[in-house]
Amino acid sequence: MKDNPPSFILSAYFPPSYDFAKDVYYIVNSWPRPRSLYTAIMAEARDTQSGAWVDQRGPDARIKIRNDIPIPEPGTCEVLIKLSCSGVCHSDVHNMFGNTPMTADIGGHEGVGHVVKLGTNVPHDLLQKRVGVKWLHTYCKQCEICAVDVTACPNQHNSGRDVPGTFQQYTLSPVEGLTIIPDALDDVVAAPLLCAGLSMYGSISRAGLKEGEWLVLTGAGGGLGHLGVQIAREKGLKVIAIDTGEQKRNLCLKLGATSFLDFKSDDVETRVKELTNGYGAHAVISTAGPAAYAQSFRLLRNCGTLVCVGLVTDNLTVSPFELLKRALRIVGSSVGTPEHLEELLEMAVQGKVKPVVQVRAFEDLDDVLRELAAYQVEGRIVIKIPS
Ligand SMILES: [Zn+2]
Ligand SMILES: [Zn+2]
Repeated sequence: MKDNPPSFILSAYFPPSYDFAKDVYYIVNSWPRPRSLYTAIMAEARDTQSGAWVDQRGPDARIKIRNDIPIPEPGTCEVLIKLSCSGVCHSDVHNMFGNTPMTADIGGHEGVGHVVKLGTNVPHDLLQKRVGVKWLHTYCKQCEICAVDVTACPNQHNSGRDVPGTFQQYTLSPVEGLTIIPDALDDVVAAPLLCAGLSMYGSISRAGLKEGEWLVLTGAGGGLGHLGVQIAREKGLKVIAIDTGEQKRNLCLKLGATSFLDFKSDDVETRVKELTNGYGAHAVISTAGPAAYAQSFRLLRNCGTLVCVGLVTDNLTVSPFELLKRALRIVGSSVGTPEHLEELLEMAVQGKVKPVVQVRAFEDLDDVLRELAAYQVEGRIVIKIPS
């Protein structure tokens, strides 16, 4: 963590909104503050905190910043975390506007912070550790599904869905749900890896591709997609990135896409066939809206795989006849496993995967969620949590 630089140094040597060392664009001019035992003690002395309360979940939902939210007490095998930032995910939009079931009043599941209080039965060396809080809050570890893939556990709980999430100053996490953040990664760079990056790592792994095979990524310039381009490139895949606009074209090609197709101006189906010897891609991973899903079967070669990772509630339109005739596979993938996250963080430490991050103020969260709903965000927005 960096100390706050004196303001005269900041204004003399750095544009206030851009951190060259981290390659992060700051809309708010706030620097990570140093952690100390003193702040940990102060944290324990307070009993209320600020949080982004979802008022009236559903189409008219609004975020209200409240300052009277009780700071919870960690129970057995739990820790209290003081958050410094949180990424904002498209599933937060769906939860807030009622498209997917949310029972918690505070969303968010890409949080980074420090452990400031331990419950019972928790190793003492976790105090002050810098950790990440993810979508998968708990899973049962006892069911037959957990034995195959814990991310599909029917008994799971999720941050920001049915337990209060990371859009607040303090949150609880069970010890087994924590991710230790490697020293080499800054808070705002690590945050988007915890859901966006992990979701892409999981979906690319579940596509079951071999090196040199073709992967179509729809929504490639977005929060998930731009990380998917980098992960796929590192796994030796050839990526056809689909999105729209010059900015997203430049971003995707810079990050290692083999080709970029603009869905507004290119004949996507013809171009994908041309690039893939007339067969289509080995896999399509869709992180975009309903139109991208509808087109995806026409971009696949026979024996190809569609991986659904973008949250769309419309039905897929494919007949069993087409599926069997072409031997297609459809796979659902929410987030990746703990092992996937370990591999992804290692890629990030080595500089092979790097989120494109915009940092925004906590008070902007309502606007940010609306921008996400309108697919207006390039890369990932991370909000700074006030200390
Ligand atoms: Zn997410
Ligand atoms: Zn389970």
